[in-house]
Amino acid sequence: MANMAAEKVEMAVLKGEEAACAGLQLAILDPHVAPERIEAWKRQTPIFDRAYLFDRSGKLLYPAQVSEPEATTLAALRGEIAPGFWDRGGRRHVRLEEQVALVSVIQGSPLGRLLAILVRSEQGLRRDIIEKTLVGLEGQSVVAVLDGSDRVIYAARPLERSQHVLTVAFGEALPSWRLALYAPAGVSPRDAVRRQTVLFTAVLILLLGVIALGLGASYRLVRRESEMARLKSDFVANVSHDLKTPVALIRMFGETLEMNRVPNEATRREYYGVIARESERLTRLIDNVLDFSRIEGGRQRYEIARGHLEPVVHEAIEAFRYPLAQQGFKVHVEVEPDLPEVALDTEAIKQALANLVDNAMKYSDARRHIGVTARRVGGEVRIEISDEGIGIAAREHARIFEKFYRIGRSETQGRRGSGVGLALVKHIVEAHGGRVTVDSRPGEGSRFTIHLPVPAVP
Ligand code: ADP
Repeated sequence: MANMAAEKVEMAVLKGEEAACAGLQLAILDPHVAPERIEAWKRQTPIFDRAYLFDRSGKLLYPAQVSEPEATTLAALRGEIAPGFWDRGGRRHVRLEEQVALVSVIQGSPLGRLLAILVRSEQGLRRDIIEKTLVGLEGQSVVAVLDGSDRVIYAARPLERSQHVLTVAFGEALPSWRLALYAPAGVSPRDAVRRQTVLFTAVLILLLGVIALGLGASYRLVRRESEMARLKSDFVANVSHDLKTPVALIRMFGETLEMNRVPNEATRREYYGVIARESERLTRLIDNVLDFSRIEGGRQRYEIARGHLEPVVHEAIEAFRYPLAQQGFKVHVEVEPDLPEVALDTEAIKQALANLVDNAMKYSDARRHIGVTARRVGGEVRIEISDEGIGIAAREHARIFEKFYRIGRSETQGRRGSGVGLALVKHIVEAHGGRVTVDSRPGEGSRFTIHLPVPAVP
C-alpha cells in the first residue's frame, strides 16, 4: 500500500510539472518575454515558487534581476547543462539549495529555446499534489510524507503517539523525500497481525467445520440411499416370494381336486379351505402392495364417514377365523359396549387391523395368544392388538413403521412379509387424524395400539 501511495504521488508530481511546463510555453510566446505573463503563470502554478528563464547565450530573461549569491548558484547550475541537453529539449531535476528544481528546455519562443529553472514550493506541492493524491488512501494507518531530515511535510492525522511502521522512498522526482506509514495508538501492527491471524484461523475452522458437516451429510445421504436401494430390492424379492407361495398352494390343491384324487369328503373340504385361505392371503397382499403404491404416488383417497367400530373390529378378526383356529391361536376379543362413533373409512381400518393381526400371528412362537380390545380413553378410542410372540427391541420401535423396513433376518427368518404392512397401518391411521403406537419387549410379546380421535358431538 505504501509503495502504491508513493508511486501515485510521484506520478501526480510529474503530471503537475508537465502541465506547468506546458503553461510556461504558452506564456513565452511573445517576441519579448513579458514578465506580467510569467507572473500570471506563477500564480496559477503553486507547485513552483521561483522561476528563472535564460536564453541560450546565458542571458537572464526573467526575473529582471537576482541577488549576488543567487546568480552564483544559477551560473554554476547552468555550467552543468551540456549542449546536448539544449538540443534534446531535456528536462531533469536538480538540487538547488534545500529545494528541488526542475531544469527544462522550453521551446516555442521567438527568442529560440529557453532554459527554465523552476524551484519547487514545498507548500504548493503539499497542497496541490500530495494532499489531493493521498486523500482517500487512508485506512487504519496514517500516511505521512517526510523530507530528507525526517521533517513531516504532510500527515493526514497528527502523528503523536502513533507508531512508525515502515518507510518507502519516492523516485527521482522527489529525491530525498520519503513516504511513511504510521499505526495510530492502540493499533500496533503486531496487534493488527494478531487480530488478523485470529480472524483467519476462526474463518478457517468455520470453513473446515462446514466442509466436515457437508461431508457427513453427504455420507449419511449416500448411506441412506444405498440402504433404501437394498430395502427396495428385498421388498421385490419378498413380495415375489409371498405371491408365489399361495399361488403354488392354490394350484396344487386345485389340481388334486380336479383329478379327483381326494380320499374323502372331509379332506376335500379341507382342500377347499386351503384354497379359500390362500386366495384371501393373496388378496390381502395384493391390496397392501397396490395401496402402498397409491400412497407413494400420492393417489390414495379415503372415504371417511362417521360409523361404529364394533362391527369393523369383528369383521376384521372374522376374516382370520380359519387360519387362527388352524394354527392353534387363542383369540380374546373385547369391544367396550357403547363405544362412541368415530370418523372412519371402514375398509381402510379393516385393512390396518388385518395387517396387525397378520403380524401378531407371524411373529408368535409357542405362546399363541392374541388379544384384541377396543375402548374409549378420554377423547379417543383405542384399539389394541397384542400377542405373546417374539417381541421387538426398543431401538427398533420407530423404524418398524418405515416403508420396507424389516428387523434383521434372524428374527424374521422364515416369516413371510414385504416390510410395508406397518407403514400402511401408520398411513391409514394418520389419515384418520390418529396415531399408532407400539409397546413391546423381546421375548415377551408386542402390543400395537391404534388411537382414533372421537369427533366432537355436532
Ligand atoms: P412385514 O411384512 O415384514 O411383517 P411390517 O411392516 O408389517 O412388515 O413389519 C415390519 C417389521 O416389524 C417386521 O418385519 C417385524 O420384524 C416387526 N414386527 C411387526 N409386527 C410385529 C409383532 N407383532 N411382533 C414382533 N415383530 C413385529
